[in-house]
Amino acid sequence: MPVDFIYPEYEVVRNDSRCTHCRLCERECSNGVHSYDEAHGLMLSDESKCVNCHRCVSLCPVRALKIVHTDHTLRENANWNEDTVKEVYRQAGSGGVLLSSMGNPCNYPVYWDKILINASQVTNPSIDPLREPMETRVFLGRKPSAIERNPDGTLKTDMPPQLELEMPVMFSAMSYGSISYNAHESMARAAKASGTFYNTGEGGLHKDFYKYGANTIVQVASGRFGVHPDYLNAGAAIEIKMGQGAKPGIGGHLPGTKIVADIAKTRMIPEGSDAISPAPHHDIYSIEDLRQLVCSLKEATEYKKPVIVKVAAVHNIAAIASGIARSGADIIAIDGFRGGTGAAPTRIRDNVGIPIELALASVDERLRDEGIRNDVSLVAGGSIRSSADIIKAIALGADAVYIATAALLALGCHLCRSCQSGKCNWGIATQNPQLVKRLNPDAGCERLVNLLTAWRHEIKEFMGGMGINSIEALRGNRFMLRGVGLNEKELQILGVRHAGE
Ligand code: SF4
Ligand code: SF4
Repeated sequence: MPVDFIYPEYEVVRNDSRCTHCRLCERECSNGVHSYDEAHGLMLSDESKCVNCHRCVSLCPVRALKIVHTDHTLRENANWNEDTVKEVYRQAGSGGVLLSSMGNPCNYPVYWDKILINASQVTNPSIDPLREPMETRVFLGRKPSAIERNPDGTLKTDMPPQLELEMPVMFSAMSYGSISYNAHESMARAAKASGTFYNTGEGGLHKDFYKYGANTIVQVASGRFGVHPDYLNAGAAIEIKMGQGAKPGIGGHLPGTKIVADIAKTRMIPEGSDAISPAPHHDIYSIEDLRQLVCSLKEATEYKKPVIVKVAAVHNIAAIASGIARSGADIIAIDGFRGGTGAAPTRIRDNVGIPIELALASVDERLRDEGIRNDVSLVAGGSIRSSADIIKAIALGADAVYIATAALLALGCHLCRSCQSGKCNWGIATQNPQLVKRLNPDAGCERLVNLLTAWRHEIKEFMGGMGINSIEALRGNRFMLRGVGLNEKELQILGVRHAGE
């Protein structure tokens, strides 16, 4: 019988001279790490259950706790590192697929960090955003090639439906089910307060949130959970989810344990049943089929709402996007391989797809080459971490970006990567009522609004520094970017020059 004991990844360090045995850590930990030994008057720790979510560390009133990465080592080598060995042990023990959450954590190049932004010096003077107007508003959707006006100045051209954003950032799809009611409410309210949009994901729309419809993107995914005419008409736009960066080519799975009564009702499935969305849409096998669905959704909503098609960034993404642009879609959302998820097979998350930076640049160039760039807007997602990433994404061709992990961090997520367990100690990726109430939607909304406000200030500073006063003027303006430490091929795909050129 093989012995495959795996030493815990984290250790709980408790300062016994500080600990008052208040047992708060025991009450706060949904994983059952902490316990009290009455007989000996001691707090104990079962480190094998610790996911390093930092709940106990953050709340301990006397700062008696630290979670540290273990310095225990396996005998590793360059080929077999500790994680790889442990994963083989786990699979040999369980016979199951490894599951993870959040985005790809592997050591692939982060191109955002190899791209630098320009600033004006002497000529083309910079603009002071505190004293001069700076336009961060964007409109997403098909743009007519020319605008015609009637003699009285009113618009003659029939404008296609558009989404108007106060700044080029939206909250990406996260379903009610994968995240909590309070997390959804925080995002809905923050989207409304900030003049942007949040996205239902594939879980349908809870009746309580219909009032935020003007700031809601409703998603239609392969499982069609919660999709009905009222739902489609409740949102400001409809997103067809063809793929997701964290798990390209496969469907979704929300375990039955998370399908509690409210979620079952919203998704229109039985309580406690697994919500498994198929890998493909069973009515889409070609661009023509996609066009049918785009047209059906437009017809169902009287051609008043833009339709987004969301795809994962994969090898031939430029050709795929070209097809989508011809399907009648108004917006293409591209999700890079670092995009987050509530649950995905670890191997898929870590090995499938391509970086958003390369995908975005190649799609923008292809659509320009084909003269159809203004037929669609591009939304980039999958590892947008800061206002600097946003500026770089816009200059590489995005009209706007989706953020998700950054939004969850704003809500208190500590990136413990155990959303799939449903035991989120911060009340975000859970349906346990005791845990859900730990996230106060008032505070959540305020923190999200703060994050967007701060980024908007920074975006204006960046644009002012470049001597650019609107997002529209920055879109696809790759002269504003330079690469560092990139090879010729990477520079060519990104369409940027090397620093110093
Ligand atoms: S929360 Fe801090 S003080 Fe209270 S029992 Fe835990 S370690 Fe001790
Ligand atoms: S949402 Fe919760 S469970 Fe998921 S990574 Fe963040 S803290 Fe962990």
